[in-house]
Amino acid sequence: MPQKDPPAPAPDFQNPPGPHPATTSEAGSFAYAHCPCGWRGPSRRSRDKARQDATAHAQQR
Ligand SMILES: [Zn+2]
Repeated sequence: MPQKDPPAPAPDFQNPPGPHPATTSEAGSFAYAHCPCGWRGPSRRSRDKARQDATAHAQQR
């Protein structure tokens, strides 16, 4: 069995590929989710919240 390295801490959160592979970015002290489809989530103080936005968007159809 090939062993997998533990996932490296990425600078950006990335959802699994799908119709809406939303990621998060930071602007100043804020974080926000965005998607190649043009969607952009609200600015969040917490990157965690932005991730939730990205996940919620990625799961929509
Ligand atoms: Zn999208």
